[in-house]
Amino acid sequence: KASGAAKLKEMVEHSRYIVFFGGAGVSTESGIPDFRSAEGLFRKVDNRRVSPEEILSRDFFRRYPEEFYSFYTSSLIHAEARPNAAHLALAELEKQGKLKAVITQNIDGLHGMAGSVNVLELHGSVQRNYCMDCREPYPLSLIVESRGEVPRCTLCGGIIKPDVVLYQESLDMALLESAAQYMAKADMLIVAGTSLSVQPAAGLVKLYRGDRLVLINKAPTPMDRYADLLLNEKVGQALEPFL
Ligand code: NAD
Ligand code: ZN
Repeated sequence: KASGAAKLKEMVEHSRYIVFFGGAGVSTESGIPDFRSAEGLFRKVDNRRVSPEEILSRDFFRRYPEEFYSFYTSSLIHAEARPNAAHLALAELEKQGKLKAVITQNIDGLHGMAGSVNVLELHGSVQRNYCMDCREPYPLSLIVESRGEVPRCTLCGGIIKPDVVLYQESLDMALLESAAQYMAKADMLIVAGTSLSVQPAAGLVKLYRGDRLVLINKAPTPMDRYADLLLNEKVGQALEPFL
């Protein structure tokens, strides 16, 4: 659809304070599956069918650390994944001074890898890990080397936890406040690759006050009717022209 692409280009040209808000769909073109489209991410635990959301919860982590890590290392860690056209285009728009912040629900670290500097990782990052007992930090490589076993602190033997926000855990309030301020200040907001079904995602988007709300998502979202430009296509494809 040439008209959608042309309209997006024109909107970007007229904006000087663009904010990007993204979710798992931004990284599917890098080979990392999202939750909503990937039925394969369900697991069987104690003869029950368990969703990724349940496995990635605080209670599950405490009760079944082995199952948690087996799922986590095989399904959420993609050490070989590289930024795609979407990540790279956003880094380029930031370099040009047009894009002021990337706010993401993703934990894969691909925006940073693409060269984006101001990235607000609302749900944390697989790149950071720490001992739950003595807070010693550990790199992702230690988790990868544990091969699905529960990684233990070499100093005190405590369980190492990824610095990601699990379901039932609260977000970093300072980070959330900062994200809210970017939303309110933006003259253009690009929302992409998110089902907008997890709070506070939908709430944040509602803080945007401008008239250039662009929504890029393959599937419908509850906020489609608020979009000034709705693109039902791949994020990488939509943003590639800005590379
Ligand atoms: P989601 O799985 O709920 O929704 C992803 C949305 O993106 C879907 O609506 C899907 O149709 C769309 N989509 C998928 N690929 C796309 C593409 N190439 N172009 C356009 N649209 C595409 O994801 P969510 O809303 O981000 O919420 C899931 C939660 O799980 C998040 O909180 C996130 O932290 C976590 N998660 C993170 C990663 C990651 O870090 N890469 C991966 C999976 C899940
Ligand atoms: Zn320790």
